[in-house]
Amino acid sequence: MSMPTPGFNTRAIHAGQGFEPRTGAVVPPVHFSSTYAQDGIGGLRDGYEYGRGTNPTRDSLQEQLAALENGTHAFSFSSGLAAEDSLIRALTGPGDHIVLGNDAYGGTYRLINRVLGPWGIGNTPVDLSDAGAVTAALAAYPVKLVWVETPSNPMMRITDIAALADAAHAVGALLVVDNTFASPYLQQPLDLGADVVVHSTTKYIGGHSDVVGGAVIVKDAELAEKIGFVQFAVGAVSGPMDAFLTTRGLKTLGVRMDRHCTNAQAVAQWLLARPEVEAVHYPGLESHPGHELAKKQMSGFGGMVSVQLAGGEAAARSIAESTRVFTLAESLGGIESLMNYPSEMTHASVKGTELAVPVNLLRLSVGIEDVADLLADLEQAFSQL
Ligand SMILES: *Cc1c(COP(=O)(O)O)cnc(C)c1O
Repeated sequence: MSMPTPGFNTRAIHAGQGFEPRTGAVVPPVHFSSTYAQDGIGGLRDGYEYGRGTNPTRDSLQEQLAALENGTHAFSFSSGLAAEDSLIRALTGPGDHIVLGNDAYGGTYRLINRVLGPWGIGNTPVDLSDAGAVTAALAAYPVKLVWVETPSNPMMRITDIAALADAAHAVGALLVVDNTFASPYLQQPLDLGADVVVHSTTKYIGGHSDVVGGAVIVKDAELAEKIGFVQFAVGAVSGPMDAFLTTRGLKTLGVRMDRHCTNAQAVAQWLLARPEVEAVHYPGLESHPGHELAKKQMSGFGGMVSVQLAGGEAAARSIAESTRVFTLAESLGGIESLMNYPSEMTHASVKGTELAVPVNLLRLSVGIEDVADLLADLEQAFSQL
């Protein structure tokens, strides 16, 4: 009897995770070896030669990632930015241009603008939800890559991936989607026409705030060749223990995301009802301008909520510093709730640029604790205003 294509959670648990053949260990050992014995010169066992090139623990993570993004090849790196750097170096060269969202992750903009800019790669940040601005930017430069985050960080803007892929392809550019916020459980950009998916696996994929990592996933052998070469030649690979922790986290992505989504929806609605609040940015709210689009291209609205306080910077700072369950910390996507003041924390690197974020903005990474405790925590923090 032929089996149906396995569902997301089955793939998350089994793709690349076969038991170890000698002992039957259900969880394969973590392979720390930096090199591999050869059966005579050049007699490699299963292609394994040296740890920068290939490692079984990293391979099993890469297989799992490719299966979950519906890609053919995945590449695991030591951080999200290492993944982005290798990706950009694999696909662009001096004279090429990158069009990216004007609310891109600050570190991505810093990498593209301040590290790769001096090497001759140009960039133009635009509002990617504005089709006219996108068309103008694509016409003005020799654009090689269009780079989008949806939902975006921290304003939670939603961009139509399929439409943007068409616009990019019309000028011979590739569409890169940073899928960190949605995770492959809620959104599969390759199926919508994107050419490349990148992740900071530090966030939802690892899911437990205990490992830094990044990934690139593609569905095209020629792109895979180029990216695989840079992964090997530059060597920003994830180490075995990091790969193992990421794989372990990824197995439970589906159940975690379901809870992140319901908790975030409740937090967003609670915030929306508060008089101290000027605006709530969460795609699960009907008032969100990207709500309908998010419903179409995502299967849930995610765990990230941003809120602007009517009391300005002082109110935002006060709440950021008075929650007890929400921990004041950078990063996102872990099981524990985090509170972030983007202007001075995650987005400090874009302060004073056109990517700067409002000073009355807080970004909440809503975790999977009991939602009543999260709301009670917000209640006590708001009552101190
Ligand atoms: C964190 C993050 C990155 C960078 O990843 P690191 O793992 O910190 O290097 C890139 N994009 C987004 C959307 C992120 O949140």
